[in-house]
Amino acid sequence: MYKDRAFTENQLAEMMHTHGVRLSAQRIAVFSYVANGKLHPSAEEIFTALSPIFPSLSRTTVYNSLHLLKDKGLIRELEIQSGFIRYDLRLQEAHSHFICTGCGRITDMPMPAGIADAVLPDYAVGSVDVFIKGLCPDCKGRRKKDLKQIIY
Ligand SMILES: [Zn+2]
Ligand SMILES: [Zn+2]
Repeated sequence: MYKDRAFTENQLAEMMHTHGVRLSAQRIAVFSYVANGKLHPSAEEIFTALSPIFPSLSRTTVYNSLHLLKDKGLIRELEIQSGFIRYDLRLQEAHSHFICTGCGRITDMPMPAGIADAVLPDYAVGSVDVFIKGLCPDCKGRRKKDLKQIIY
């Protein structure tokens, strides 16, 4: 399975500093939620998760922080469902995503680095997004059980 990520606050702050992002506690928290959570959260999910920790946090701050982190190349947008943007850490090994059509969970999957360059040697590849859709093991099991109940 894809390797666990655990960045300390100092490491995150260092990455932000290197990429020219001015530090604030709320920005670090937003970046940490995307970088460490592995949940590929939406802006709304980030806001809901962080509000109890930062009661003064506004949706605008979350959106602005996400746009800034994206512009500075620290995170990237994933548009797996059209019109619904999720966020992922940009500075990591190339990977693809599996989205479960049953529960909506998104799982990182390994992907060989430079895969697009290998297939398209004459092209200047900007970014690669590979999404695979299907059922996760939990939902697959549930589906089987449901089917059995219908049959018997
Ligand atoms: Zn599922
Ligand atoms: Zn991912």
